[in-house]
Amino acid sequence: MEQKSDKYILVVEDSQMFSRILKRSIESVEHFKVVIAESFAELKAILSENKYQFFAGLLDVNLPDAPNGEVIDYVLEHDITSVVFTGKLDENFRKKIYKRGIVDYVLKEGPSNVEYMVSLLKQLDRNQNLNVLVVDDSSSARSYIKHLLLIYQFNVYEASDGIEALSVLEANNIHLVLTDFYMPNMDGLELTKKIRTTYSSQEVAIIGMSVFGNNKLSAHFLKLGGSDFITKPFLEEEFFCRINQNMELLEHIRELKYLATKDHLTGLYNRRYLFEQGKALIDASHEKETSVAVALLDVDFFKHVNDEHGHDIGDKVLFKLGSILLNQFHAPHIVSRYGGEEFCLVLSDITEQESFDLLDGLRELIAEHCFTLDNGDILQMTVSIGVHTSRIDNLKDALKRADQGLYQAKHEGRNQVVLIK
Ligand code: GH3
Ligand code: MG
Ligand code: MG
Repeated sequence: MEQKSDKYILVVEDSQMFSRILKRSIESVEHFKVVIAESFAELKAILSENKYQFFAGLLDVNLPDAPNGEVIDYVLEHDITSVVFTGKLDENFRKKIYKRGIVDYVLKEGPSNVEYMVSLLKQLDRNQNLNVLVVDDSSSARSYIKHLLLIYQFNVYEASDGIEALSVLEANNIHLVLTDFYMPNMDGLELTKKIRTTYSSQEVAIIGMSVFGNNKLSAHFLKLGGSDFITKPFLEEEFFCRINQNMELLEHIRELKYLATKDHLTGLYNRRYLFEQGKALIDASHEKETSVAVALLDVDFFKHVNDEHGHDIGDKVLFKLGSILLNQFHAPHIVSRYGGEEFCLVLSDITEQESFDLLDGLRELIAEHCFTLDNGDILQMTVSIGVHTSRIDNLKDALKRADQGLYQAKHEGRNQVVLIK
């Protein structure tokens, strides 16, 4: 599980009641920390201290010692992405803040606005890990969109036509493509068609940018696999909302896929994935005339770990064991949690001897590993492994043979690998 480092959020607000509510809600998100400035003077003091690297700012534009939004320019000069909140809103004010490069504005009243601000901060946090490719032959259009995307904290890539876009896509892990339609060499429609031959709409979102009144083009684009389109010219709010909705969809799909294929404790693949992909791996080995190995690994006397140290420690030990397995075996090999303290490995393109040597090396590595417990105690343990290789027709039968090997390994004293022919 990935450890996130703390992210500091600057809240500039003179009402203590409101800033307290904000702080509580924001800090309910793991790794978000709030620093409050109650006045313009305090804000200056905090920023001159240079103690924090702020990830974002939430700014009240009406402070007693800065009644006309002076904080905005001050904070932006310090390169802090900011959201403004205000008691009132008029069109002039709206235009002014967007011109200055503010992410969004939020009306102060109402509890749902606090929720909105928190979700906005989460989006900005997420965007830092997302890569967006802007495709447009006009460099001024590109830089305007790039400017907006940078305010929203995305990582931005650029291409001036479809051909260039495809090579950027190939070299980088792009999550969203924003494309113009009319471009030399390869236009937006052709580009969309090409992208969809390789990347599904669950992997890469494509948003087309069409000029007002071009409905036929937009419809054609959606049919070719476009995810959404934005009519030019657009309001910044609409632009951000559409991008956000598309990114949220991709995120949900990723989460669902994760939940459907991974074991929640160890992060290894689950049984379901093992049976699906194991079959694919075995079928592929028949085609290539190579062999696979199927191994079952079971921790020796794991019940003692739970009995002596508690179930929570047992869980942590299983998690660590999972990471050891992941470090040793990479795709196309499959590393999965078969159940309880039992793991299944499917190793591809491997001979009998190679699989035995690899697994025996793994066994030794685990036996020598020192698991450090929370209280500093060191725990050591061993595993038994049964493996079956060559002439594997289906996973189920191979698992049965591997299980016979495991049974034998346990009976012959544990901490060993038994190969069943
Ligand atoms: P053997 O060498 O014969 O495999 O002995 P063992 O104690 O490992 O085997 P046994 O099957 O008797 O016990 C397995 C233990 O693993 C019992 C069960 O509570 C524990 N276990 C299974 N799943 C989990 C889990 O997710 N977390 C924790 N902490 N323990 C688990
Ligand atoms: Mg066991
Ligand atoms: Mg067991």
